[in-house]
Formats: sequence, C-alpha cells, structure tokens
Amino acid sequence: MPTNYTAAAAEKTRQNYEALQRFYPPLTLDKPRRSPMRELISTVLSHRTTHADEELAYDRMLETFGDWAGVEAAPTPELAHAIRTTRWPDTQAPRIQEILRRIKAERGEFALDFLAEWPTEQAMQWLHEMPGIGLKTASLVLLFNFHKPVLPVDTHVHRIAQRVGMIPPKASADKAHQLLLAQLPADALVLLNFHKHNYWHGQKVCFYAKPDCPRCPLKGFCNYYLEHYGPATPEALAATPERWDLAWGELQH
Ligand code: SF4
Repeated sequence: MPTNYTAAAAEKTRQNYEALQRFYPPLTLDKPRRSPMRELISTVLSHRTTHADEELAYDRMLETFGDWAGVEAAPTPELAHAIRTTRWPDTQAPRIQEILRRIKAERGEFALDFLAEWPTEQAMQWLHEMPGIGLKTASLVLLFNFHKPVLPVDTHVHRIAQRVGMIPPKASADKAHQLLLAQLPADALVLLNFHKHNYWHGQKVCFYAKPDCPRCPLKGFCNYYLEHYGPATPEALAATPERWDLAWGELQH
C-alpha cells in the first residue's frame, strides 16, 4: 500500500474518531455491560441474529438448564431447541458446549477472569482457538470486560471504514482489524469509543442499504459521499446535526 494512501486513511480514521466523539455520547471504561462468560456466549449466539432474539435465546438457555454446568451437560438437541431464536441453533449448540468443556477442562471452572492478568496477545490467541470464536468475539470480550487495547470490527465498523476510506474498499473484517488498530492509539478507552460510536452510526445513520448521508457528520471526508453527492458544500456541512438526538432513537448499550 503506498505511503500516501496509508497517511490519508489514518487521517480519515482520526477524523472519524473526533467527529463521532462529538456526535454521540462518550463512553467510559468503568462498567462492563455483562460478565465475561455472558459476553462470550452471547456473542456466539448473536451471529446474524437480532439483539432481542439473542437475549431470548440466552435467557431460555439458562432458564432451561440452570447454569453453565447444566448447559454443558444438556442433550445437544434440547440445547439447540432452547436457543432456537438464533440463526443457526444446530451449529451453535454443540459449539457452545465445546467452548464450555474446554474452559472447564483448562481452568477448572466456568470463568474467564484469569484473562485480566494475561498479556493481550496471549489472551487473544487463547480465545481465538475456541471453536467459532473469531477476532470480533475475542476482541469484544477483551475490550469490554478486561479493557485490553483491541478493536472489535463488526459489520457496522467494517462497512463505515470501507465507505469513508479508512481501509481499502475490499479489505476483509480481519484485515480491517489489523489496519484500524495500527491507525489508532493502543488505548482501551479510545478503542471502546471508536468501536461503539461506529456501531451506533451503522445502526442509526450509515445503513447498509441506504445510508442517511445528509444527517452524517462524516460527509466532509467520506469517499462514498464524495462519489455519490460530490464534495460536501458549506450548506450541506452546516445542515448536519451537531449531535444525535435521542428523540430519533435510543442508542443500544
Ligand atoms: S457520509 Fe454517508 S456513506 Fe459516508 S459515513 Fe456518512 S452515512 Fe455513511
């Protein structure tokens, strides 16, 4: 990749961070949204599944089998039935049981707190070796629960990075993970805000099918905007809302 491309992409990443930091509420690191075990298993359940259906599957699973030991020991077809609101329950059920089996066999209990003490790369590799745990899931657990300097690249982060020009248009999500991390400071708070703000932006403004570019604070430096609307005019920039108004929709945590 030529140096001028790399420098321009890094500048767009910096502009993205600053613009979305102003547009959405800033986040802090002090309170993980879920326990590490819940974050890990919920992320497996969330694959191509709505948040509501993922939560329903998680609740049904624990109501039916009681705890992680019960989930691990459950007849697999019954576990698949309990998580039937997910996209691929017949694949996810044995996967979840295998993950639980490995955690118990290696650590003696169903807990991930030991990862707090591990170096980031070692923790990432350990999680990544679990069946069905990709970079995104491992990064979510390590960033949200243990404040490690890693970046989850979900479908929203990936799409916006491509459209804005922070990464090449055809870069995969795993490549995006590597490129964006190299452009951002190794600071968990910055990475949490970057991830979450782009996640919200993908949900609320930069939609997959029809991005709401007139409302977007990234229009001044976005490649997609330039291609579809031309250079952002002073009028278009002035018409951009300063920040997200909760009257337009709640931001999911
Ligand atoms: S200007 Fe449009 S395409 Fe670019 S980030 Fe904003 S909503 Fe997405």
